[in-house]
Amino acid sequence: MTVPEAPVGGSRASATAGAAAVPDALVIGRVLISRVEESTFAVLDPFEVYPELTQVLLEANMSWLAPRFFDPVAQRLNLAFQGFVVRSADALIVVDTCVGDCKARRRVSFDQQRWGWLERLKAAGVEPTAVTHVVCTHFHVDHVGGNTRLENGRWVPSFPNARYLFPRAEFDYWSSEAGARAMERTGDYFADSVLPVVRAGQADLVEGDHALTAQVGLRPAPGHTPGGVVVDVQSDGARALLLGDVLHTLLQIRYPAWSTRFCTDPDASRRTRLDILRRAADRDVWLLPNHFPAPSAGRLERWRDGYNWRFAGAARPVFV
Ligand SMILES: [Zn+2]
Repeated sequence: MTVPEAPVGGSRASATAGAAAVPDALVIGRVLISRVEESTFAVLDPFEVYPELTQVLLEANMSWLAPRFFDPVAQRLNLAFQGFVVRSADALIVVDTCVGDCKARRRVSFDQQRWGWLERLKAAGVEPTAVTHVVCTHFHVDHVGGNTRLENGRWVPSFPNARYLFPRAEFDYWSSEAGARAMERTGDYFADSVLPVVRAGQADLVEGDHALTAQVGLRPAPGHTPGGVVVDVQSDGARALLLGDVLHTLLQIRYPAWSTRFCTDPDASRRTRLDILRRAADRDVWLLPNHFPAPSAGRLERWRDGYNWRFAGAARPVFV
C-alpha cells in the first residue's frame, strides 16, 4: 500500500478520483485515510454470527458471496482485521488496533499470534512515536489488541506519545461484572490491552459527540457494544464514516436488520445500523466497515427494496 507522507488537499472531485486510483487510501478533502491490514481469513461460521440466517438464504446469496466474502470449502465468512490511519495537518490518528501480537486468547485464531501489524504500520510510514491519537471504536478483542505491546514482560502502550480516546460508556461496561462475563468467550483482553494504557496516564474517556480535531469527530453508535462510536471525517465538503463493527459483513448490507450474536443489545444495534445506512444511502459519503475485505471502503446505493454496495474503485456494485 502506498501512503503519501503528507496530507493531500483537494476537492470532492479529486477525492473520488484518488479513491479510484488507490483503493487502499481515500482522500477526504484535506484528510487522508488509509488502511493497514493485520489479516484477512475465513474466520466466522455465518450461522454463528447471524441468528436469522438459513441454509436457503445462504445459498440464495452464494453467487456474490463466494469466494470473495465466503470460503465455500471452510464454510466460513472472510473477514479483514485492520486499523485505519487518519492523517491531517494537525493529527496522526490510528483507529482500531486489531487483534495484536503475543496475546493469550481463547479463540485459537487470535491466540499468541505474530501478525506484525505494528511493523506494517511503520512500513506504511507511521512511526508509533509520531501517532497523536488512538481511537478504539469499541472494546472488542479485535479492536484493542495493538494498543499495547510486550516490553520486558510488561504490556506497555504501543504509541508512547498518543492520547488514547476511549468512549466512557465502553470503558464503564467492560469494567463491570457484565463486561467481565462477556469476555469469558475470548479471555481478558481488557487487562492486557486497555488497562495498561490507563495506568500509563494516556487514556482520555470521552462522551457523546466528541470533536477530536476540526475535521475528525466521534459519534455515539451504541448497540453492538454499549459505548461504541463511529469516527466521522469531514473536510472540504467530503465525508467518510469509519464504522467499526456497525456492519460486520456484506450480508448486513443485503439484510440491514440483521444484528450479530456478538451484539450486546441487538435491537439498539439494528436501530444504529438502519439509521446510519438510511443517512448514507445515495449520498457522497464513504463508509469504512472494519471487517469488509479489501478495499473495505465503499458507498451505499439504493437497490430493489434495500441497498447495494460499491467498493472504492469498483465498476459495479456487489449484488447483481
Ligand atoms: Zn470486530
